[in-house]
Amino acid sequence: ERAHSMASTNLNPHVATLGTAGGPRWWTGENAGKRAGISTAVVVGESVYLVDAGTGVGNQLMKAGFTPANLRGIFLTHLHSDHTIDLASLAIFGMFTLPAGKAPISIIGPGDRGALPPASPRAATAPQPVFAQNPTPGTASMFEHLMQAYATDLNDRVIDALRPSPLDHFIASDIEIPAGTGYHPNAKPTPADFAPFEIYRDELVTVTATLVKHPPIVRPSPSASTLPKAR
Ligand SMILES: [Zn+2]
Repeated sequence: ERAHSMASTNLNPHVATLGTAGGPRWWTGENAGKRAGISTAVVVGESVYLVDAGTGVGNQLMKAGFTPANLRGIFLTHLHSDHTIDLASLAIFGMFTLPAGKAPISIIGPGDRGALPPASPRAATAPQPVFAQNPTPGTASMFEHLMQAYATDLNDRVIDALRPSPLDHFIASDIEIPAGTGYHPNAKPTPADFAPFEIYRDELVTVTATLVKHPPIVRPSPSASTLPKAR
């Protein structure tokens, strides 16, 4: 009907690349210091759906005209540091810009890898894993540990300054790979007949994920967001 159609038209969905420097490239090379780490904003009306949170994501979001108050969801394509390093910054500093009563912001990304990758054949001796007790954490565990690392700071704010906790404002969860696909993180990371599946939906967007090749990691990558068709 008319009201809906006008609202849909005015949403002006578009993509804003906030940073495109993979790995440590923002740090070195001829453009050192001029680039930001990987992050992309899918903008629908006033709502921002962030894909990845690389170096400088908060500054870049601000320069693009948004604050964390605009965020509806944060989607992590995979857990490599160049895609996630400023997630803690976004949550801890970002929460101070959030209006009271705002619904929690979803952080959605890959689950626990489930197995370490096989050691490189070039290894003369077996490499020892980092944090052998939890060597392949997924998104929820990663976010929990990031916040745990800042507990001293966060508790000063929560207990003394009576500020909110980022855990009240950001809810991290793992993408669960559908059962029965034959998927295995090492033996079969990308089953041939694997189809994109829904990982998030609200009144503006539907987000699906699929598995793509990016050895040695498993990457259930948010891959598409589809707007309701404007009528
Ligand atoms: Zn990567």
